[in-house]
Amino acid sequence: MSITTMSLTALSAALQAGKISSREIVQACISRIQAVEGSIGAYITTCEEAALQTADRSDARRAAGECAGPLDGIPVAVKNNICIRDVRTTCASRMLADFVPPYSATAWERLEQAGCILLGKTNMDEFAMGSATEHSVFHPTRNPHDLTCVPGGSSGGSAAAVAAGEAPCALGSDTGGSVRQPAAFCGVVGMRPTYGTVSRHGLVAFASSLDTIGPLTRTVADNALLLDAITGHDLKDGTSIRRPGGSAQRALGMGVSGLRIGLPKEMLAQGVADDVRIAVLQSAQRLEAQGARITEVSLPSLRHALPAYYIISSAEASSNLARYDGVRYGHRAAEYADLEELYLKSRSEGFGPEVKRRILLGTYALSAGYYDAYYQKALQVRTLIKRDFEGIFNQVDALLSPAAPTAAWRLGEKRTDPMEAYLSDMHSVPASLAGIPALSVPCGRNEAGLPLGVQLMGPHFSEATLYRIGAAIEGGEG
Ligand code: GLN
Repeated sequence: MSITTMSLTALSAALQAGKISSREIVQACISRIQAVEGSIGAYITTCEEAALQTADRSDARRAAGECAGPLDGIPVAVKNNICIRDVRTTCASRMLADFVPPYSATAWERLEQAGCILLGKTNMDEFAMGSATEHSVFHPTRNPHDLTCVPGGSSGGSAAAVAAGEAPCALGSDTGGSVRQPAAFCGVVGMRPTYGTVSRHGLVAFASSLDTIGPLTRTVADNALLLDAITGHDLKDGTSIRRPGGSAQRALGMGVSGLRIGLPKEMLAQGVADDVRIAVLQSAQRLEAQGARITEVSLPSLRHALPAYYIISSAEASSNLARYDGVRYGHRAAEYADLEELYLKSRSEGFGPEVKRRILLGTYALSAGYYDAYYQKALQVRTLIKRDFEGIFNQVDALLSPAAPTAAWRLGEKRTDPMEAYLSDMHSVPASLAGIPALSVPCGRNEAGLPLGVQLMGPHFSEATLYRIGAAIEGGEG
């Protein structure tokens, strides 16, 4: 097996057994990037030289018997909205095209301490708003399984890099599905962790009550390893949870015998493509054959999840993005007559159309006279969704659903009608609103050869159970 298709776990074992060096792994990724990046476009920035130097330091540590652990010497790709000191972090926006952060996100600092090596910063939808990585001011990213298709989004660059062998693993961010949906489209594993378990410090804010950082990997075991490395309390994030750490890897390999798994009927009804529905039902059968108990369940409030998500996330975005005024933060227009014009021109030039749409939508939903009708109502729906999940998790240990209603679509297909793209988030936004963990696992391909993904959701802090079930599904992938 070649270095660029090996799992993170296998690479780590080979490193520790002295069969391979970190420099060799990094060099293999760089060669692969050079070979395929022209057609895929997963990265905005790559850091070849620095990566090789860091790899040499890791190899020296191992030679001296000072290995920092299983991730020491492993290269990682990081989404362009996660700050890394001295590396350009653009959010794929003209607004931040020249931004070089003076500090690193806590999630990255934790990986750095574990010995990980930065390969580069990946492409994304501008400010993480989108589902196809077509809303990047730099270039679109293509799906490695079919170059005419999108990789999903907004962490499309991270998912495509892992799928194409350009990195063994990556970090993405998930506000309403941006780790899970691109993972499904690219045939990789993606986790949205319980809100508050991974620090948001250094993640450029989109919708603060929904934003999370999550890993994208080739296998379920890899994902659990990476998640454990980035999890932990952080004083720099006011919503970070202080909690004795149980490992996300602890239940891997325990099998699913006796677990109760629900199939939410609202998530298999209207709007779901046949190939996706069949893949979910086949995964359910596979789990049942291994001893899980499958039941159909109902969460009636889910039909309101999508509008509630788009109101809440846009409202928060309109507030978070107000800081980009060309004065203290962000792109500044070259010429302006007064302060008003400075704001107007800087923001008009700096933001792309999708970001402007969200700011307008969010400002409207928060304005006097509409606040109660839209924002307040959306918060009430959010409470109902949380309660529906709480009730269902008294009956079942986890829920199985599609990760997205269809496989990847063609580039450009949904660019003109934003509503079409929004609808594709219908399976991912409920877990986001409830703050619960959700894992996207590959489960075969459709007739066109495109990957399909299923989603597992569980109560807060149930990551270990989701990985346990995910591993049982992954084993059956053809
Ligand atoms: N596609 C969703 C949106 O556009 C989710 C984005 C995300 O999770 N960052 O809002």
